[in-house]
Amino acid sequence: MVMDLSPDQYFDNLYAKDEELERVGASIREAGMPEISVAQGYGRLLTLLVSLSRSNSILEIGALGGYSGICLARALPAGGRLVSLELKQDYANLARSNMEEAGLGQKVEYLVGDASISLDKLIGQEARFDFFFIDADKENYPHYLEECIKLANDGAIIAADNTLLHGKTIDDLKQGPSVLAMRRFNRMIAQDPRLTGVHLPAYDGLALARITPK
Ligand code: SAH
Ligand code: MG
Repeated sequence: MVMDLSPDQYFDNLYAKDEELERVGASIREAGMPEISVAQGYGRLLTLLVSLSRSNSILEIGALGGYSGICLARALPAGGRLVSLELKQDYANLARSNMEEAGLGQKVEYLVGDASISLDKLIGQEARFDFFFIDADKENYPHYLEECIKLANDGAIIAADNTLLHGKTIDDLKQGPSVLAMRRFNRMIAQDPRLTGVHLPAYDGLALARITPK
């Protein structure tokens, strides 16, 4: 028998619908925003990793409508904090309202504007985080990774979405700035001695790394 489901779809179909996250998806569609929230299996993985690592403080780069924000903040303990960097005020507004609807509004703070500027400010304040999720403009992934390392507590975990760029990353004919940046980012995850990394090839690719303890 020919299977017409992809492996991603097969596994996705095993899970009950998540009403909270379905609502976020609908709100993004209604607002005419791009439907590029993190894949549902990776959302579950983020929740699991935050919980396993007992992270108290999370930095997200790229909020969109709050889908990944909910996945991350769900696993925070009482008093835990999510700081989320988002370029667009209206996206941050929708993300905030979705976080509030999910009962997580008191855990999140949105810093609106270019993430590079917010990162500089956080570094100036000597902020520190246990967990990072990089998911904004792809050209800046190598830069974001360097900045996250500066903001990381010992043993912190870094996750980054879309490492395959819908296949462009592994297509030699593609040589645009986002693709070149993503290839460099992927090499850093694999080879940088400050990191212990792994690449997951499901969906659009996810990178995970732990800051190698000194
Ligand atoms: N993490 C979200 C999806 C993020 S989509 C989720 O899975 O639910 C990428 C987001 O990055 C968009 O909301 C976009 O506005 C934001 N973004 C793009 N460039 C940015 C920049 N320079 N600084 C901060 N955010 C940026
Ligand atoms: Mg993404």
